[in-house]
Amino acid sequence: MNNPYLLLTPGPLSTSATVREAMMKDWCTWDDDYNQGVVQPIRRQLVRLATAHSGYTSVLMQGSGTAGVEAVLGSAVPAEGKLLVLINGAYGRRMADIARCLGLRLATMEVAETEPLSAELLSQALAADASISHVAFVHCETTTGILNPLAELCQAAKARHKTLIVDAMSSFGGVPMDAGELAIDFLISSANKCIQGVPGFSFIIAREAAMHRCEGQARSVSLDLFDQWQCMERQGGKWRFTSPTHVVRAFAQALAELEQEGGVGARHRRYQGNQRTLVDGMERLGFRPLVARDWQSPVITVFAAPEAPAYDFKRFYEGLKARGYVIYPGKVSAVDCFRIGTIGEVYQQDVAGLLAAIEDAIFW
Ligand SMILES: *Cc1c(COP(=O)(O)O)cnc(C)c1O
Repeated sequence: MNNPYLLLTPGPLSTSATVREAMMKDWCTWDDDYNQGVVQPIRRQLVRLATAHSGYTSVLMQGSGTAGVEAVLGSAVPAEGKLLVLINGAYGRRMADIARCLGLRLATMEVAETEPLSAELLSQALAADASISHVAFVHCETTTGILNPLAELCQAAKARHKTLIVDAMSSFGGVPMDAGELAIDFLISSANKCIQGVPGFSFIIAREAAMHRCEGQARSVSLDLFDQWQCMERQGGKWRFTSPTHVVRAFAQALAELEQEGGVGARHRRYQGNQRTLVDGMERLGFRPLVARDWQSPVITVFAAPEAPAYDFKRFYEGLKARGYVIYPGKVSAVDCFRIGTIGEVYQQDVAGLLAAIEDAIFW
């Protein structure tokens, strides 16, 4: 079962044939084989991947990654609390949109999309407004591929005892981190990013004490983080409502393959190799990455659109797709650009193939 093209996008991304094959079976959503045999091991493995510290738990939530973010923001921030969202791209902005829609008390701190978030500015914002109780930000801002300074930001928030929410959607599993070491209260990611599963659910790794404080606070029934967690805890991995069984089974396979690869460190090295090969090759072809090397993640890279008047993204995209590669449009607000992801079941030879296709497809 071959794919018509290779996805060089940050999720859904290219998955292995074995992950896709794991979906070729129907599972009963309340049976022990499924809940005790598949869901519970996944929950434990996610915690192990996230931290060596004790006191952490995990919960799976139906929906795309955004549902996980919405479940956390809507459940963790009490009515009397105030959320500070740090923004340097579309996904930070989306967190603020969610907070507004839910009617949370909200403050935002925004820097330019091509700049990383600043721990110093965070400290200043927290010093200026003592009513802020929760801080949320994106680790790898997929808009640009910028890797925000996770340790410094966490430290600044924790120095003032704030509850810490990190959207690690596009980095968890592909970039080493320890949630306990960083004192993160809620870390959010989803099935179809660096774990290399297929889309259908998000997951939250949280400090148990922080999870307990969510009780009765949710602004939504289906996205009630505490209730979902309690159901999984008390009923051996049972989801409250229909769970995406095929997707969950594929995710278990993806986790096994992450382990076979050598864990997060090995995967990170593969992604870094992919990204370096990509940038070196693109620079040879005359393209320019938009983000400074210091902040660039191995996840996704933004390239400025060529100056050539004849350049047209749609035509470029179609030319590459015809050659077997799918890239991503740009998302940086002020700049004409495009993005290429280097995560997923993607190896050096794939990146080399893409570079050859780009050279061949250039029409301007
Ligand atoms: C992918 C992603 C999300 C979630 O997006 P969905 O389309 O809802 O899965 C959130 N934040 C970041 C940083 C992401 O990369």
